Amino acid sequence: MAENEPGQPPLTGSEWSRDLPTPASALAIGAHPDDIEFGAGGTLAKWAADCCTVHHLVCTDGSKGTWNPDADIAALVAAREIEQRAAAAALGATGQVVFLGHVDGELESTLAARGAVAKWIRALRPEVILGHDPWKRYRLHPDHRHAGLLACEGIVAARDPHFFREHGLAPHRPRTLLLWEADEPDHAEDVAAFVATKLQALEAHTSQFESTMKASDDDQLEAFRQRVRARLAQHGVHTHTAAAEVFKRIADL
Ligand SMILES: [Zn+2]
Repeated sequence: MAENEPGQPPLTGSEWSRDLPTPASALAIGAHPDDIEFGAGGTLAKWAADCCTVHHLVCTDGSKGTWNPDADIAALVAAREIEQRAAAAALGATGQVVFLGHVDGELESTLAARGAVAKWIRALRPEVILGHDPWKRYRLHPDHRHAGLLACEGIVAARDPHFFREHGLAPHRPRTLLLWEADEPDHAEDVAAFVATKLQALEAHTSQFESTMKASDDDQLEAFRQRVRARLAQHGVHTHTAAAEVFKRIADL
C-alpha cells in the first residue's frame, strides 16, 4: 500500500509502504558482524530511540574478514565480537547481541541452524525481524544467502508449535519481516535523522576499514561515509525522504 504525501508523484511501485509503527522489539539477523549496520542501521537506530528493544543475531564468527594472510584469526574473531557489541551500543540498541559462531564462509541453512535461529526467535519474541534477502539475484556470498534463508525458515519453525518441541519455549509469530539488499524492495524507512548514527555504528567495525570499507586513511574513510550517505539519499529520492533504507516487506507471517 502506497502512503504518499498528497500531491507527490508515486513511489517507484504501486505497492510501496513506508515507516512501520515503531515495534516494541526487533531482531536483526545478519551473516557477519557489520551486515546488520549496513542493512538496517538507520532503521534500528530510529526504533531504538523510540523505545524499541533491538536485538542482534550474528550467524558467523567473521573469521574471513581480513586481507592479511598472516592474521591471528582467534584475535580477529574476538575483536569482531567486541566491535559488534560497540556497534549495537552506537545504534542505541538495548537488547541482546547473540553470536551463533558458525565459521565465516561456511554458513548453511541446515535443520540444526534453523532450530537455533527459531529458538532465539521464541526466546526474544520480536515483533519485527530483519534480515538479508536470500533471493537477491546474482548474489555471490553464500553466507548472506544462507543467513537470509535462516531468518525466513526460522520464522516458520518458531511460529508453529510442533517444530522443535524440545526447545520447551512457547511458539512466537513475529508481525513483519523486512529483508534488506532486497531484490524487489517495496518498503522504505525514513532514516534522515539517523544517518550519522548509522555511520557511527558502521565505524565501530574498525577491523573492516581496509577490506569492506576501503577506508585505510582519513580521506578514504570520508569517501566511505559519502558513499553511505549517497546510497541513503538515492533511496530517499525514490521514497520522498532525505534518506531512506529500503526493504522487501513480508507481513502476514
Ligand atoms: Zn556480510
